[in-house]
Amino acid sequence: MANTEDLFKNIISHSKEYGFIFQSSEIYDGLSAVYDYGQLGALLKNNIREYWWKSMVQMHENIVGIDASIFMHPTTWKASGHVDAFNDPLIDNKDSKKRYRADVLIEDYIAKIEGKINKEVEKAAKRFENFDETMFRGTNARVVEYQKKIDEINTRFKTALEKNDLADVKQIIIDLEIVCPISGTRNWTDVRQFNLMFATQLGSVSEEASTIYLRPETAQGIFVNFLNVYKTGRMKIPFGIAQTGKAFRNEIVARQFIFRMREFEQMEMQFFVKPGTEMQWYDHWKETRMKWHQSLGFPQTQYRFHDHIKLAHYANAACDIEFNFPFGFKELEGIHSRTDFDLKSHEQHSGKKLQYFDTEENQSYVPYVIETSIGLDRMFLAMLSQAYTEEKLENGEERVVLRIPPPLAPYKCAILPHLNKDGLPEMARKIIDNLKFDFYCQYDAKDSIGKRYRRQDAIGTPYCITVDHQSLQDNTVTIRERDSMKQQRVFVESLSSFMDSNTNLKTLLKL
Ligand code: ATP
Repeated sequence: MANTEDLFKNIISHSKEYGFIFQSSEIYDGLSAVYDYGQLGALLKNNIREYWWKSMVQMHENIVGIDASIFMHPTTWKASGHVDAFNDPLIDNKDSKKRYRADVLIEDYIAKIEGKINKEVEKAAKRFENFDETMFRGTNARVVEYQKKIDEINTRFKTALEKNDLADVKQIIIDLEIVCPISGTRNWTDVRQFNLMFATQLGSVSEEASTIYLRPETAQGIFVNFLNVYKTGRMKIPFGIAQTGKAFRNEIVARQFIFRMREFEQMEMQFFVKPGTEMQWYDHWKETRMKWHQSLGFPQTQYRFHDHIKLAHYANAACDIEFNFPFGFKELEGIHSRTDFDLKSHEQHSGKKLQYFDTEENQSYVPYVIETSIGLDRMFLAMLSQAYTEEKLENGEERVVLRIPPPLAPYKCAILPHLNKDGLPEMARKIIDNLKFDFYCQYDAKDSIGKRYRRQDAIGTPYCITVDHQSLQDNTVTIRERDSMKQQRVFVESLSSFMDSNTNLKTLLKL
């Protein structure tokens, strides 16, 4: 098995080779941090989105889904705080002329110290039999010293950001003697704040009011429609509004493939609750969302919560569900208790009342909100990196298999005539005709059966159905399962129900 860095490279090239993900406008050398989904990627992405939508909307009587526009009235972004506070601190190296996010330079420096700690831990773990990692971290002089340094940097950096003291952010970079990875020099400019929203012009009026933004999150489309949905849907608190859709951020540090893109898709749900009950609902959604991830059947150790200590201006509690990507644990989904910040702010900016009338309490109030927000593309990457497996088989052959949960796999089955003659292709075609309305099927008659299995393994097809001479006699076919590679013979008439009970999204929801 390749090391993690190689593994990640292999996943990226596999994605391209099999039509999952391409660089955007590749014939023009691509556009940085923008990607296109190919013929298989689009299917997988649709399936993930559908699974999320079914779990969140279809399975909850008190959650409805909407589809708001990407363009919104510019005041929306004033009210949400994005015009004033959606910034990254940037710094340029004067020699290489390269631009960096100051926080990323500092985080990378910290990651190096963390790397040193991990090395010490690994060394010690090999030396001692009943190794107690927590105790080691708390007592080993070198590790304690490294940890102290990390804590000091974190505290100083956090304070500088909170005070918006950009001079001190620069000073931290200088004090830590951080050099530009390209030029190797410490010739830095001052740190500046840079807004992440893409601005564009609406119509032909050249006043300031005509500057509009590509939405940086889908959430605001939900808040501005709160009253519409509440009234027309006769919703009763607690209730949720969900939506999936594109969001745009002019990310400066664009790296790690589709982990951080400039155009990406979010799947968000805002849950409106009675003030005072938000913590109970926050815990509820934390648990529910973690269960959703774990329903995919990947090892539970691949997920963890990360509670935020420094909260955004709108939140009174927040955490991330982190996933162990090939480059380490990183945010996959955010769960935020957003208080009544957004609705109140939209009330102030629009002059409209955005309140709920509680018939039990006989009073109106601005609801509190719990948000669950997950990046579809990040979920795609989590799925791909967990599913991608390089294996050596018993017969010495090697295979790459995508162990995608069958209900999410792009193709559910491949129909393979054992030989491309003797009426086998005709029978295979008939089987496909019966299945293809309900299941994505592939027909493949080229090359040896072994090669065809490998091709389907590589794209994650859970079942290969082979039609052979016996099939013509007794109307049976073999089904070969992707992960175990075990085969069974079944009657053609039972294929549809076999496929349904093994590849329906219901099976993930344990229904
Ligand atoms: P990060 O700290 O990684 O920049 P964030 O905290 O800004 O993320 P949120 O604003 O909470 O992210 O967005 C919710 C979700 O949207 C994230 O959990 C992530 O899955 C996804 N997301 C955010 N930014 C991007 C991006 N540039 N590319 C792909 N997905 C993204």
